[in-house]
This record gives sequence, structure tokens and C-alpha cells, in this order.
Amino acid sequence: MSCVKSPESTQSHGRENGRGLNSSTVMQPRLPNPTPKELRNGGRVKTNGRQPTGIYQPNHNFLAPHMQSPEYVQLSTAAAITLGIMQGKMYRCECTRCLNLLLTYPEGCRANCAYCGLARHREAERDYADRNFIRVDWPAVPIDDIVNIVAKDLANTPFHRMCISMITHPKSDRDTVSVLKKWTDKIDPNTLPVSILSNPTTMTKADVVTLKDLGADIFTVALDAATPEIFDRTRGKGVQSPHKWSKYWEILLSAREVFGAQRFGAHIIVGMGETEHEVLQLVQRIANLGGHSHMFCFFPEKGSLMDHLPATPRDQWRRVQLARYLIDYRDVQIEQMKFDSEGRITGYGITDSELCDVIDKGIAFRTSGCPGKIQEDISACDRPYGDSPPSNIASFPFHPRKKDLAKIRRQLDIPIVVR
Ligand code: SF4
Repeated sequence: MSCVKSPESTQSHGRENGRGLNSSTVMQPRLPNPTPKELRNGGRVKTNGRQPTGIYQPNHNFLAPHMQSPEYVQLSTAAAITLGIMQGKMYRCECTRCLNLLLTYPEGCRANCAYCGLARHREAERDYADRNFIRVDWPAVPIDDIVNIVAKDLANTPFHRMCISMITHPKSDRDTVSVLKKWTDKIDPNTLPVSILSNPTTMTKADVVTLKDLGADIFTVALDAATPEIFDRTRGKGVQSPHKWSKYWEILLSAREVFGAQRFGAHIIVGMGETEHEVLQLVQRIANLGGHSHMFCFFPEKGSLMDHLPATPRDQWRRVQLARYLIDYRDVQIEQMKFDSEGRITGYGITDSELCDVIDKGIAFRTSGCPGKIQEDISACDRPYGDSPPSNIASFPFHPRKKDLAKIRRQLDIPIVVR
């Protein structure tokens, strides 16, 4: 065993009492600026009226063509490189295992979530297809091209899963069905399973049933915020955005009923002002329902309403990452854990030796999400550098090696004594 207590701290911001915390007083979004009338609802793209020709690579030159789903979708830079339609290399990653697709429209997402690069308030500054999302560009590609490339050599595809990300748009429900049908017409979802990252605001239970009937394997709801107050502040009334915590839970519970245990989950961003105890209470609630939590470390996305705020201190993130893994995959209950007066984890509810073993295995620190073909607790959705720069990795898109684990142990900053 090699677990040791690290005496030194690794973070310089967001620290209180020697341990990191992005507190709710600090994590306040700025207010969105009004958008000139002529630029609302994709006004610039519609006025320019450029017809798309094949792949569109985001370039911020205000000449985004008029592309819309279901004919067009956007895909992550990692997926585009893996698919072979974009050149590039990713730090210490050969490829991504998840083909993340995103619906696209000139009007873009009609919501205004404070941490998101796709938010509506950016209309004047950047066309939708040019906006950064989880730190990367998302090229737009005809869905038929994507399906054909994957179907052509399905046996050797590097992907373990495909995911359709909905956005808040009047056509999003209908077009998610169309994209899924285009996919399953040529690709057996038993060979390459499909996840849906839903947009509850426009959905009903009937929509959830339709997607399941069409072959979707896992249904996820991006709660993103860990508490109703943070939800309202960052993606509801606080930023003139339409989402409601209660509606998100309604669809999450529908997903549980329709998709069943282990086939639904929630996205949660750590470090937007909640305490570690609060976020883990949510993780436990979802685990008790039979679902999983897919965690993201808050990163100040450029152009978002929270781009002036600090990323989650690494020690806060690592503690939550580790505890989430124990709850989701090691049957540890939050009641077994210990917390300090500010809600920070001080005990994980298992022996030091067991904890050491989990840390040394490293899986707890990999990107969390829907599973791939390796094992249930290893996510296909590895989102390379979606929540941190490669220089200070939050979610590891590859298996952490010895030097990574040494850094993780320093960041965890917890005393572990192996007896
Ligand atoms: S609904 Fe999703 S895509 Fe739209 S602004 Fe919110 S987080 Fe971003």
C-alpha cells in the first residue's frame, strides 16, 4: 500500500479553514445583458441565409450556415477526431469511447443556464454553432454522414456508446426521435447502445416511453445543480431561464419507471455553491432510487455567466468524486460518512485499508457517466478535458497512472494510515 498523508495544499483559491470550498457567497452568476432584437432567435444566421455544405467547423466569423436538426447535429471535438472527420490529437487519449451528439438550430438553446457556453444570452456575441460547450468546439455534421461512417465498420468502431443531447428548443423532442430513428435504421442499438441526455422542460412521460420503445438504453437528466436554490439561481428565474427543479424531478422519476434501475441517471456539477454534504445527499437520493450520478467539476466556461468564478478546488472535487464512487459502486451510505461543520467530508465510512484500495484502483477519479463495454463502473462517456485543462485534470478520461494517483492523493489531502 502506498497511501500517505500529504502535508501540503495544492490549491490557492476558494480555501476556508485550510480546505477548499466554492461557497455559495462566491459562486454568484453575473446577470445576462439584453440581446438586440434583430439578433434574437438566430437572427443573424437566418438573415445571412447561408446554405450548409457538409461539415461545418466552428470559427466565430459570424457566417454560420442555416443548419438544423434532424438533418444536422453537432458533435464533440473528441468524437469528430475519433470519427476521423477532424484532425487533431488529444493529450494522453487515443480516442473517445462515446459519440456525443448535440441537436442544433439557428435559434440555439432557448435556456440561459449560467455555467453553460450554449446559453441564449450569447446570441449577440456568437452564433449557436460557433459556441464552445464543456470547453470545446462542436463541429456540425449531417447525421446521415455520421451514421454511415459508424455503420460501415460497426465491428471495429472505437465507440462504446452514442448519446443524443437535447437542448431547450420547441423542435427538440420531435427531432431527438428522428435522430434516434436514423441511427437505429442502420445500427443495432444492442451492438452500440444509445443514451439520451434529456431536456425535461419540454418533455412528458410519453416522450420518455417513446425513446425507450425506439431502443434507447439509458436516460439521463441534467439536474446540474445540487440543490433547488442553486438550480433556480443558475438555470431558473435567477438568469431568466425556463427550467424548474420540480419538472426535472418529474422526468427523472418517469425515467426510473420507464427505463428501470441502473438505466437512468443524473448529471450533477460539483462546486457551484453547494456543500459536499448537500451534493452527496443528492447522490445518495439518486442511488436509493436505483440510478447513478454523473459528476462534472465546475469549470468557468468562457463566455458563460459564471466565467469570472473559480473552478472547483481540487481537494473539494476529489473528496466528492471519491465519496460518489463509494455510494454508487461500493454500497457505502452517506450516513456512514463524516462531515465537518461546513459540510466537508472528513470520513468515508470504510476502513483506511479499504479506502486505500479504492484510491489505488483509480476508477473513482475517471470521468463518470453511462457505462461502456469494459465494466459497469467505467464510463464510455470520457469527455476528454470537458471539465478541466489537461494541466490539472479533474475527470480522468483515461486510467490514472502511478504519477496521477500520487497527485490525486496529494489533492485529497486526507490522512490515511494503513494498519
Ligand atoms: S438547457 Fe442545457 S444546453 Fe441549454 S443552456 Fe441549459 S445547460 Fe446549456
